Amino acid sequence: MEDFTSGSGAARSVLIIGAGPAGFSAAAELRRRGFDGTIDLIDPSGEAYDRPPLSKAYLAGTLDRGALALAGPDWFQENSVRITAGTAERIAPDSGTVTLDGGALLHADALLLATGGTARKPLFPGASLVHTLRNRDDADALRATLGPGKRLAVIGAGLIGAEVASTAVSLGSAVVLIDPVPVPLVPAFGPELAAHLHGMHAAAGVETRTGLPVDVMEEDEGLAVLMDDGSLTVADAVLAAVGMEPDTALAEAAGIRVDGGVLVDARGRTSHPRVFAAGDAVRRTTAGMPERRNEHWDAAVRSGQAAAAGILGQEPEADAVPWFWTDRYGVHAEAVGSLNGKGTTVRRGIPGPGYVVFQISPAGALAGAAGIDAGQELRAARRLIALGAPVDPLELADPATDLRRLARSRR
Ligand SMILES: Cc1cc2nc3c(=O)[nH]c(=O)nc-3n(C[C@H](O)[C@H](O)[C@H](O)COP(=O)(O)OP(=O)(O)OC[C@H]3O[C@@H](n4cnc5c(N)ncnc54)[C@H](O)[C@@H]3O)c2cc1C
Repeated sequence: MEDFTSGSGAARSVLIIGAGPAGFSAAAELRRRGFDGTIDLIDPSGEAYDRPPLSKAYLAGTLDRGALALAGPDWFQENSVRITAGTAERIAPDSGTVTLDGGALLHADALLLATGGTARKPLFPGASLVHTLRNRDDADALRATLGPGKRLAVIGAGLIGAEVASTAVSLGSAVVLIDPVPVPLVPAFGPELAAHLHGMHAAAGVETRTGLPVDVMEEDEGLAVLMDDGSLTVADAVLAAVGMEPDTALAEAAGIRVDGGVLVDARGRTSHPRVFAAGDAVRRTTAGMPERRNEHWDAAVRSGQAAAAGILGQEPEADAVPWFWTDRYGVHAEAVGSLNGKGTTVRRGIPGPGYVVFQISPAGALAGAAGIDAGQELRAARRLIALGAPVDPLELADPATDLRRLARSRR
């Protein structure tokens, strides 16, 4: 069997399973790096489309279906990338064969698994009564339940649950947001910013409840969410936004190493030399140790690009400092790096637009930052984190400090 990554053989055809941000970015990166072989993308939707708007503008009805596309038909034509509607049911890595639903067989020198994940379903008996949100059809079904006079219960006040609560309220729904912890998202934003963001729900008229839902049942007045203290929350529709499960079934069935995600190295290489993987479906290993899954858009795009480099036997771009964003009630919150480690916390401003919180490592370098409507500051913080240079807490805390200039001066 040829190993395409060692230079002993060059892939002439690549088949990418899944056309989300990871799969699409891999296709684009293969072309950017000059690959002139065939590229096939397979996705049940037959399209490459984006997911972040599904809980925001698309759910609100202010962004139409077409605007979700990661690229238009012209791009596919100009780049000679073929996209086919289908679901891969089986892969045979040794031969590079992929079996689609309906029985069609496809073959490629290199396979890329970019299958993303599925929304986690609650484990309680009434789980089939709840909506989940991962794809366009889910968003369409959820949107049909929203509007003036409609009641929505959201289980899980993480990133997606919070965004849906915000969108649903903007459409006139009455929303109850349920989470087991009083202040969700502390690891992502740090305690102060997480508390501020969570407080925005109540300020917007969303009822927040702390507790553990143990079931959802059909009642005369609608659906009832039963809490562990015996209380009920009644709504017309219930959304469970309790995380996602990586879609690893194809890899597992093919004997590829999986451990809470398809295990890959920095070039997207799996345990089989012909098979690569990227995006929400993977877990990166460093020195053989699996890392935490990074289920954000930027990580998906970058890992798709890294896998493209891996397929070509080339060096990927240097690792980027993790970054994600979220929107709620008209504000844009972002976080870079990690706010979750040891060290000191430095604040700039007061929670609200322009506020940034920084996490400084015990060694005195910037480890993470998060903020509200502070895009420029967070881009600069991302550069400072990447540089690993010592930072001065007083300088960071001073709103007069131009962080972009500071980042430039540390280069
Ligand atoms: C509602 C929502 C809002 C989000 N908002 C944000 C945000 O604001 N900021 C942020 O940073 N991140 C956000 N994310 C996360 C981000 O969208 C994901 O990290 C990203 O989509 C992962 O990309 P992916 O390509 O790995 O997976 P996906 O986008 O899930 O794409 C995988 C594709 O593979 C297809 N597929 C699966 N199995 C098969 C198969 N067997 N055969 C063929 N095709 C298959 C799926 O149908 C899917 O189209 C959001 C996610 C969701 C769901």
